[in-house]
Amino acid sequence: YQVDQRKVIQCNIRDITERKRAEEALRESEERFKVLHNASFGGIAIHDKGKIIECNQGLSEMMGYSRDELLLMDGYLLIAPDSRELVKNNVAADFEKPYEAFGMRKNGEIFPMMLEARSVPYKGKTVRTVEFRDITERKQAEEKLTASEVRYRRLFEATRDGIFILDAETGMIVDVNPFLVELLGYSHEVFLGKELWEIGFFKDIAASKENFLELQQREYIRYEALPLETADGQCIHVEFTSNVYRVKHHKVIQCNIRDITERKQAREQLLKALEELKLSNAELEQFAYVASHDLQEPLRAVAGMVQLLQKRYQGQLDERADEYIRLAVDGASRMQTLIKDLLDYSRVERRGNPIKAADANEALKYALRNLETTIAEQGAVVTSDSLPTLDADATQLSQVFQNLIGNAIKFHGAQQPQVHVGVEKLADAWRFSVRDNGIGIEPQYFERIFLVFQRLHTHSAYSGTGIGLSICKKIVERHGGRIWIESQFGQGSTFYFTIPHRS
Ligand code: ADP
Repeated sequence: YQVDQRKVIQCNIRDITERKRAEEALRESEERFKVLHNASFGGIAIHDKGKIIECNQGLSEMMGYSRDELLLMDGYLLIAPDSRELVKNNVAADFEKPYEAFGMRKNGEIFPMMLEARSVPYKGKTVRTVEFRDITERKQAEEKLTASEVRYRRLFEATRDGIFILDAETGMIVDVNPFLVELLGYSHEVFLGKELWEIGFFKDIAASKENFLELQQREYIRYEALPLETADGQCIHVEFTSNVYRVKHHKVIQCNIRDITERKQAREQLLKALEELKLSNAELEQFAYVASHDLQEPLRAVAGMVQLLQKRYQGQLDERADEYIRLAVDGASRMQTLIKDLLDYSRVERRGNPIKAADANEALKYALRNLETTIAEQGAVVTSDSLPTLDADATQLSQVFQNLIGNAIKFHGAQQPQVHVGVEKLADAWRFSVRDNGIGIEPQYFERIFLVFQRLHTHSAYSGTGIGLSICKKIVERHGGRIWIESQFGQGSTFYFTIPHRS
């Protein structure tokens, strides 16, 4: 402007740092709002009497309408027809708590949602906001849970185990199932709301608070054969198990009671029968021993006499008489062998040596020495693994080896007999094997061959009385083990037996 004919320029400088900052902050906050607006997982709308005037991206995504479609749309179109009345009423009443209603997407799909309305002051007016939340997944999970709760409830009610549930803090009984009521004969009311130690018949389980402490602290407890008294004074035996688990932040104890009276009785009967069997076995053994022992004497006399008869009168009588005498001598000597075998069999228990550390290699060597002639005659090849030292009756172990290897050589086929003695260490036992390349056995005879005097061949085809394997079985069982055979008919057999480890 002019001052005294001279032109001057006035420059005003205003510090607008603050304003710039404020603008910047506003822009940033708007940006942030936009991010929030679009990133929120649910849908949000501002409406004016039901007309949507603003909404976020989440609502678009949830409902399947574009933002432009939503703006100025009647908000009730987002609500499933069945829920519209409820929503309208809530809007009219300015209801501000979350509530469930059904929504409807653009494609007509109905889904459960949670709505929450709020009145927000805006430029001197009040606007209404609504938050939409899709709760399909939560509903599904809830339904699943209810289904599984129903299933478990049914189990609880139908099971033939008595179950009661305790509050782990107080020891109070919170639930009992119908079978427990039936089992013990007391009514529901007797149990519910009582503390465990108030109930007399649990006295052996948890009547005292100390026992309850144990129930509380150990996750799992099992008692077997606890006696319980029922309402009518009967004593039943139960198996008791308890499990501790959490329901939300609350610890509960579930106790299961199973009536095992019958099982116990059956077990007792079985034990009794076993005891009787043992006794009668022992008697039988005693009988076999006495009989074979006492039969030996007169048999020796008969055999001696017929042999004498043969020696003196052979060729002096007629041919038929010679044949009779020969048959009598033969029969007597066979009978002597049978009786000797029977005696050996009955002596497995009574003549057994104590079971103590024994070197199986030595036992095998001893057996092979006894078989020397047979091995040489048959040209057999016997090989073996290195065997362990184990707890056994060395003499009897050697007897088992001798019988099994003897058989493996005796029942050879066209090939040169080859026998291998193997061993394997199992978790609870040594498992020995005697494998041959002989004639083999058909599966239907796998059990029978271990019985006394059971043979698969005639005396003329293979010698023997059929006692060897029964003796092996008896010896192995005396050691607490098992014996069995695996075989391919015509290709060879493997006999297995176990000798358990002793601790
Ligand atoms: P024995 O050898 O005196 O006949 P065992 O009790 O030892 O009596 O055997 C019973 C039967 O089992 C034998 O007669 C034979 O038929 C069969 N057997 C045993 N060992 C073998 C084997 N290694 N291979 C084939 N058969 C066998």
